[in-house]
Amino acid sequence: MSKRKRHKKKGHPLEALKQIKPAVLDNAFAEADEEVFAEFDCLTCANCCKTTGPLFTDGDIERIARHLNMRPGSFTETYLRIDEDGDYVLRSVPCTFLGEDNRCSIYDVRPKACREYPHTHQKRQHSILHLTEKNIAICPAAEKIVQKVMQAVK
Ligand code: SF4
Ligand code: SF4
Repeated sequence: MSKRKRHKKKGHPLEALKQIKPAVLDNAFAEADEEVFAEFDCLTCANCCKTTGPLFTDGDIERIARHLNMRPGSFTETYLRIDEDGDYVLRSVPCTFLGEDNRCSIYDVRPKACREYPHTHQKRQHSILHLTEKNIAICPAAEKIVQKVMQAVK
């Protein structure tokens, strides 16, 4: 499962949500995600693109390089570096592909991790609560989603 890069942490405040049945928790997240993103315009924010970077899978690199008429090797050499986990990540943030209008210049071919961020609409929320805990400090939509989930399952 690809993710934006985060460090894992034990004993996070969302740990309590682990008491909720996985299917119930997944449904609560899915509903809250749909409600929040129906109203939230990410173009007014772009905080994820400004402050964190996605990891790039081999498939991402091939797809984006093709879109930019580059060889995959040239693309990685120009834009990416390998981090401490051995993953390809951006050389720097804000993301090179973020425009001043907060639009992504490679939106249609953007990395899988960008498409999935903040990961609140996917299954197995139990297993990524540590990640969600980090994401709510960056993503106002994720923060609202978690608030709604807390209300729904209490
Ligand atoms: S940080 Fe969250 S709300 Fe802001 S642009 Fe990214 S996904 Fe959208
Ligand atoms: S590739 Fe696009 S969506 Fe992903 S971080 Fe960069 S600007 Fe944001």
